[in-house]
Amino acid sequence: MSDLLERLRGRGWRLTAQRRVIAEVLDGDHVHYTADEVHDKAVSRLPEISRATVYNTLGELVSIGEVLEVATDGRAKRYDPNAHRPHQHLVCSRCGAIRDVHPRGNPVADLPAEERFGFVVQDAEVTYRGLCPNCASA
Ligand SMILES: [Zn+2]
Ligand SMILES: [Zn+2]
Repeated sequence: MSDLLERLRGRGWRLTAQRRVIAEVLDGDHVHYTADEVHDKAVSRLPEISRATVYNTLGELVSIGEVLEVATDGRAKRYDPNAHRPHQHLVCSRCGAIRDVHPRGNPVADLPAEERFGFVVQDAEVTYRGLCPNCASA
């Protein structure tokens, strides 16, 4: 069973058939689907599910902190159910493939005091870019 689905159950989120299908689609590691991809996959399980329901549900999951929105430059936003384990992203600049990665350092702690300009720094996002094995060998 999906970890996301379990988390949503645990917090008492009202699980309609549509919401459940969306949570089931967002299952597993390295999952970063666009809203349209979530919709395509959800439709194969629940043909009547509308695009609007998918968009609204994704927005709600983001606002309650159970799904992360990943912006990859020039491409559609992606949705990542791995919201509770801090991670960064490795992105293929050709095909857009994304992997969750865990650098050794802590990007927040690594920012020197004189580079903080008085900010209380809470969070950092690092995107590693390159070519995935498929694109590198093409
Ligand atoms: Zn690639
Ligand atoms: Zn991720």
